Amino acid sequence: MNKLGVHAAVFVGGWSPADCETAVAKASACGFDVIEIPVFEPENLSATATLQALQRYKIEATCSLGLPFDADLAAQDASVSAAGERYLTAALDFAATIGSSYLGGVIYGAFGKHDKPVSPAGRRNAVAAIRRVAARAADHGVTLGLETVNRYESNLLNTAEQTRAFIEEVDAANVRLHLDTYHMNIEEHDAADAILQSNHLLGYVHIGESHRGPLGTGTVDFSSIFEALREIHYEEIVTFESFSSRVVSPALSSTLAIWRDTWDDPDETAMAARDFIAEALKG
Ligand code: MN
Repeated sequence: MNKLGVHAAVFVGGWSPADCETAVAKASACGFDVIEIPVFEPENLSATATLQALQRYKIEATCSLGLPFDADLAAQDASVSAAGERYLTAALDFAATIGSSYLGGVIYGAFGKHDKPVSPAGRRNAVAAIRRVAARAADHGVTLGLETVNRYESNLLNTAEQTRAFIEEVDAANVRLHLDTYHMNIEEHDAADAILQSNHLLGYVHIGESHRGPLGTGTVDFSSIFEALREIHYEEIVTFESFSSRVVSPALSSTLAIWRDTWDDPDETAMAARDFIAEALKG
Protein backbone atom coordinates (compact mmCIF):
# COMPACT_ATOMS: atom_id res chain seq x y z
CA MET A 1 0.00 0.00 0.00
CA ASN A 2 1.40 3.37 -1.02
CA LYS A 3 1.33 6.13 1.55
CA LEU A 4 -0.65 9.10 0.26
CA GLY A 5 0.68 12.62 0.65
CA VAL A 6 -0.47 16.17 0.05
CA HIS A 7 1.67 19.21 -0.67
CA ALA A 8 1.29 21.89 2.01
CA ALA A 9 0.62 24.55 -0.67
CA VAL A 10 -2.90 23.13 -1.01
CA PHE A 11 -3.59 24.58 2.44
CA VAL A 12 -1.07 27.33 3.27
CA GLY A 13 1.27 29.78 1.56
CA GLY A 14 4.11 29.74 4.08
CA TRP A 15 5.45 27.78 7.05
CA SER A 16 5.01 30.00 10.09
CA PRO A 17 4.05 28.08 13.27
CA ALA A 18 0.39 29.04 12.52
CA ASP A 19 0.65 27.82 8.89
CA CYS A 20 2.25 24.62 10.11
CA GLU A 21 -0.59 23.97 12.57
CA THR A 22 -3.25 24.65 9.89
CA ALA A 23 -1.63 22.54 7.17
CA VAL A 24 -0.78 19.54 9.34
CA ALA A 25 -4.27 19.51 10.92
CA LYS A 26 -5.99 19.74 7.53
CA ALA A 27 -3.78 17.13 5.85
CA SER A 28 -4.55 14.75 8.69
CA ALA A 29 -8.29 15.54 8.66
CA CYS A 30 -8.41 14.91 4.90
CA GLY A 31 -7.02 11.42 5.46
CA PHE A 32 -3.46 11.77 4.20
CA ASP A 33 -0.53 9.80 5.66
CA VAL A 34 2.08 12.38 4.67
CA ILE A 35 2.38 16.15 4.35
CA GLU A 36 5.04 17.56 2.03
CA ILE A 37 6.61 20.66 3.51
CA PRO A 38 8.28 23.25 1.26
CA VAL A 39 11.65 24.07 2.81
CA PHE A 40 12.46 27.52 1.51
CA GLU A 41 14.86 29.55 3.68
CA PRO A 42 15.41 26.51 5.95
CA GLU A 43 17.18 28.55 8.64
CA ASN A 44 13.98 30.56 9.24
CA LEU A 45 11.70 27.55 9.82
CA SER A 46 10.79 26.25 13.23
CA ALA A 47 11.71 22.58 13.38
CA THR A 48 10.37 22.31 16.92
CA ALA A 49 6.86 23.59 16.06
CA THR A 50 6.82 21.35 12.98
CA LEU A 51 7.86 18.24 14.86
CA GLN A 52 5.29 18.88 17.60
CA ALA A 53 2.46 19.32 15.07
CA LEU A 54 3.47 16.14 13.20
CA GLN A 55 3.43 14.18 16.44
CA ARG A 56 0.14 15.70 17.62
CA TYR A 57 -1.67 14.83 14.38
CA LYS A 58 0.21 11.53 13.84
CA ILE A 59 1.26 12.28 10.29
CA GLU A 60 4.59 11.89 8.49
CA ALA A 61 6.45 14.62 6.63
CA THR A 62 8.47 14.82 3.48
CA CYS A 63 10.40 17.94 2.48
CA SER A 64 10.90 19.65 -0.86
CA LEU A 65 12.46 22.77 -2.27
CA GLY A 66 13.84 24.49 -5.33
CA LEU A 67 17.19 26.24 -5.08
CA PRO A 68 17.39 30.02 -5.69
CA PHE A 69 19.54 31.41 -8.52
CA ASP A 70 22.16 32.76 -6.12
CA ALA A 71 22.53 29.22 -4.77
CA ASP A 72 22.48 27.31 -8.06
CA LEU A 73 24.11 23.95 -7.41
CA ALA A 74 24.65 23.58 -11.18
CA ALA A 75 26.31 26.97 -11.65
CA GLN A 76 29.62 27.07 -13.48
CA ASP A 77 30.87 29.50 -10.79
CA ALA A 78 32.13 27.28 -7.96
CA SER A 79 31.21 29.84 -5.28
CA VAL A 80 27.54 29.92 -6.41
CA SER A 81 27.45 26.11 -6.50
CA ALA A 82 28.96 26.05 -2.99
CA ALA A 83 26.20 28.42 -1.80
CA GLY A 84 23.73 25.89 -3.21
CA GLU A 85 25.38 23.09 -1.29
CA ARG A 86 25.14 25.10 1.95
CA TYR A 87 21.45 25.82 1.28
CA LEU A 88 20.71 22.18 0.51
CA THR A 89 22.63 21.03 3.59
CA ALA A 90 20.57 23.38 5.78
CA ALA A 91 17.38 21.95 4.23
CA LEU A 92 18.66 18.43 4.87
CA ASP A 93 19.33 19.27 8.51
CA PHE A 94 15.76 20.61 8.86
CA ALA A 95 14.39 17.43 7.23
CA ALA A 96 16.43 15.20 9.53
CA THR A 97 15.38 17.17 12.62
CA ILE A 98 11.66 16.78 11.89
CA GLY A 99 12.07 13.06 11.12
CA SER A 100 11.47 13.33 7.38
CA SER A 101 12.98 10.48 5.40
CA TYR A 102 12.74 12.32 2.10
CA LEU A 103 14.09 15.58 0.67
CA GLY A 104 13.28 16.25 -2.97
CA GLY A 105 12.48 18.83 -5.63
CA VAL A 106 14.74 20.95 -7.79
CA ILE A 107 17.64 20.34 -5.40
CA TYR A 108 20.22 19.91 -8.18
CA GLY A 109 20.15 23.44 -9.62
CA ALA A 110 18.34 26.77 -9.67
CA PHE A 111 14.55 26.53 -9.80
CA GLY A 112 13.06 28.81 -12.44
CA LYS A 113 13.40 29.87 -16.05
CA HIS A 114 17.01 29.91 -17.26
CA ASP A 115 18.19 31.85 -20.30
CA LYS A 116 20.78 29.29 -21.42
CA PRO A 117 21.48 25.56 -21.14
CA VAL A 118 23.47 24.21 -18.20
CA SER A 119 27.23 24.22 -18.87
CA PRO A 120 29.28 21.00 -18.70
CA ALA A 121 31.22 22.40 -15.70
CA GLY A 122 27.99 23.38 -13.95
CA ARG A 123 26.58 19.91 -14.44
CA ARG A 124 29.79 18.40 -13.00
CA ASN A 125 29.50 20.73 -9.99
CA ALA A 126 25.93 19.54 -9.41
CA VAL A 127 26.82 15.83 -9.68
CA ALA A 128 29.70 16.19 -7.20
CA ALA A 129 27.65 18.26 -4.74
CA ILE A 130 24.65 15.90 -4.82
CA ARG A 131 27.06 13.02 -4.13
CA ARG A 132 28.44 14.81 -1.03
CA VAL A 133 24.98 15.84 0.26
CA ALA A 134 23.75 12.27 -0.33
CA ALA A 135 26.50 10.93 1.94
CA ARG A 136 25.37 13.29 4.71
CA ALA A 137 21.71 12.37 4.01
CA ALA A 138 22.53 8.67 4.32
CA ASP A 139 23.82 9.27 7.85
CA HIS A 140 20.32 10.57 8.73
CA GLY A 141 18.41 7.90 6.80
CA VAL A 142 17.19 10.51 4.30
CA THR A 143 16.60 9.81 0.61
CA LEU A 144 17.24 12.61 -1.90
CA GLY A 145 14.77 12.90 -4.77
CA LEU A 146 15.68 14.64 -8.02
CA GLU A 147 12.42 16.03 -9.35
CA THR A 148 12.28 16.09 -13.12
CA VAL A 149 10.54 19.33 -14.08
CA ASN A 150 9.54 21.20 -17.21
CA ARG A 151 11.90 23.44 -19.21
CA TYR A 152 10.64 26.65 -17.60
CA GLU A 153 11.66 25.50 -14.12
CA SER A 154 15.10 23.92 -14.73
CA ASN A 155 17.70 23.79 -17.50
CA LEU A 156 19.19 20.53 -16.21
CA LEU A 157 16.67 17.71 -15.63
CA ASN A 158 13.56 17.87 -17.85
CA THR A 159 13.01 14.20 -18.70
CA ALA A 160 13.14 10.96 -16.75
CA GLU A 161 15.91 9.75 -19.07
CA GLN A 162 18.11 12.77 -18.24
CA THR A 163 17.53 12.26 -14.52
CA ARG A 164 18.34 8.55 -14.67
CA ALA A 165 21.66 9.38 -16.38
CA PHE A 166 22.43 12.02 -13.72
CA ILE A 167 21.62 9.57 -10.90
CA GLU A 168 23.85 6.93 -12.46
CA GLU A 169 26.71 9.44 -12.44
CA VAL A 170 26.08 10.37 -8.80
CA ASP A 171 26.07 6.66 -7.93
CA ALA A 172 24.58 6.81 -4.41
CA ALA A 173 21.91 4.35 -3.26
CA ASN A 174 19.83 7.05 -1.52
CA VAL A 175 19.46 9.30 -4.58
CA ARG A 176 16.24 8.53 -6.45
CA LEU A 177 14.12 9.79 -9.30
CA HIS A 178 11.11 11.95 -8.48
CA LEU A 179 8.50 12.13 -11.26
CA ASP A 180 5.57 14.55 -11.50
CA THR A 181 2.66 13.97 -13.88
CA TYR A 182 2.22 17.71 -14.54
CA HIS A 183 5.81 18.04 -15.77
CA MET A 184 5.78 14.70 -17.63
CA ASN A 185 2.66 15.87 -19.49
CA ILE A 186 4.77 18.71 -20.92
CA GLU A 187 8.11 16.98 -21.58
CA GLU A 188 7.78 13.20 -22.04
CA HIS A 189 6.87 11.46 -25.29
CA ASP A 190 4.89 8.97 -23.22
CA ALA A 191 4.55 9.42 -19.45
CA ALA A 192 3.58 5.78 -18.81
CA ASP A 193 6.61 4.56 -20.74
CA ALA A 194 8.86 6.96 -18.78
CA ILE A 195 7.61 5.33 -15.57
CA LEU A 196 8.17 1.81 -16.91
CA GLN A 197 11.73 2.71 -17.96
CA SER A 198 12.42 4.22 -14.51
CA ASN A 199 11.31 1.18 -12.55
CA HIS A 200 14.46 0.62 -10.49
CA LEU A 201 15.10 4.29 -9.68
CA LEU A 202 11.66 5.77 -9.01
CA GLY A 203 11.45 6.97 -5.39
CA TYR A 204 8.69 9.58 -5.24
CA VAL A 205 5.70 10.63 -7.36
CA HIS A 206 3.77 13.90 -7.58
CA ILE A 207 0.28 13.64 -9.00
CA GLY A 208 -0.62 16.95 -10.62
CA GLU A 209 -3.14 17.88 -13.31
CA SER A 210 -2.16 19.60 -16.59
CA HIS A 211 -3.28 23.01 -15.23
CA ARG A 212 -2.21 22.18 -11.65
CA GLY A 213 -5.86 22.25 -10.54
CA PRO A 214 -8.30 19.50 -9.47
CA LEU A 215 -7.45 15.95 -10.62
CA GLY A 216 -9.50 14.60 -13.48
CA THR A 217 -10.42 18.02 -14.89
CA GLY A 218 -7.42 18.45 -17.23
CA THR A 219 -5.61 16.51 -19.95
CA VAL A 220 -3.20 14.23 -18.05
CA ASP A 221 -3.83 10.59 -18.98
CA PHE A 222 -4.00 9.26 -15.44
CA SER A 223 -5.30 5.81 -16.36
CA SER A 224 -2.13 4.86 -18.29
CA ILE A 225 0.10 6.51 -15.65
CA PHE A 226 -1.43 4.57 -12.74
CA GLU A 227 -1.40 1.38 -14.79
CA ALA A 228 2.37 1.87 -15.23
CA LEU A 229 2.83 2.51 -11.48
CA ARG A 230 0.96 -0.72 -10.72
CA GLU A 231 2.97 -2.59 -13.34
CA ILE A 232 6.33 -1.66 -11.75
CA HIS A 233 4.90 -2.39 -8.27
CA TYR A 234 5.69 1.14 -7.13
CA GLU A 235 5.42 1.10 -3.34
CA GLU A 236 6.69 4.53 -2.29
CA ILE A 237 4.78 7.73 -1.46
CA VAL A 238 2.30 9.26 -3.94
CA THR A 239 1.66 12.96 -3.26
CA PHE A 240 -1.05 15.28 -4.57
CA GLU A 241 0.41 18.59 -5.72
CA SER A 242 -1.82 21.49 -6.77
CA PHE A 243 -1.69 25.26 -6.73
CA SER A 244 -4.34 27.96 -6.86
CA SER A 245 -4.10 31.70 -6.31
CA ARG A 246 -6.61 31.00 -3.53
CA VAL A 247 -3.56 30.03 -1.40
CA VAL A 248 -0.69 32.38 -2.04
CA SER A 249 2.99 31.68 -1.54
CA PRO A 250 4.79 34.69 -3.03
CA ALA A 251 7.95 32.76 -3.98
CA LEU A 252 6.25 29.63 -5.37
CA SER A 253 3.44 31.53 -7.12
CA SER A 254 5.89 33.61 -9.08
CA THR A 255 8.30 30.79 -10.01
CA LEU A 256 5.48 28.40 -10.95
CA ALA A 257 3.42 31.11 -12.70
CA ILE A 258 0.30 30.59 -10.61
CA TRP A 259 -1.84 33.52 -11.74
CA ARG A 260 -5.39 32.31 -11.28
CA ASP A 261 -7.71 30.25 -9.12
CA THR A 262 -7.86 26.63 -10.22
CA TRP A 263 -10.02 25.84 -7.15
CA ASP A 264 -11.55 27.72 -4.23
CA ASP A 265 -11.89 25.19 -1.44
CA PRO A 266 -8.62 23.53 -0.32
CA ASP A 267 -10.29 20.87 1.86
CA GLU A 268 -12.76 19.81 -0.82
CA THR A 269 -9.97 19.70 -3.45
CA ALA A 270 -7.66 17.68 -1.19
CA MET A 271 -10.31 15.14 -0.21
CA ALA A 272 -11.40 14.64 -3.83
CA ALA A 273 -7.74 14.18 -4.83
CA ARG A 274 -7.15 11.66 -2.08
CA ASP A 275 -10.12 9.58 -3.25
CA PHE A 276 -9.05 9.93 -6.89
CA ILE A 277 -5.50 8.69 -6.17
CA ALA A 278 -6.58 5.88 -3.84
CA GLU A 279 -9.07 4.57 -6.45
CA ALA A 280 -6.55 4.90 -9.28
CA LEU A 281 -3.88 2.98 -7.37
CA LYS A 282 -6.32 0.09 -6.87
CA GLY A 283 -6.92 -0.10 -10.63
MN1 MN B 1 6.09 18.47 -8.36
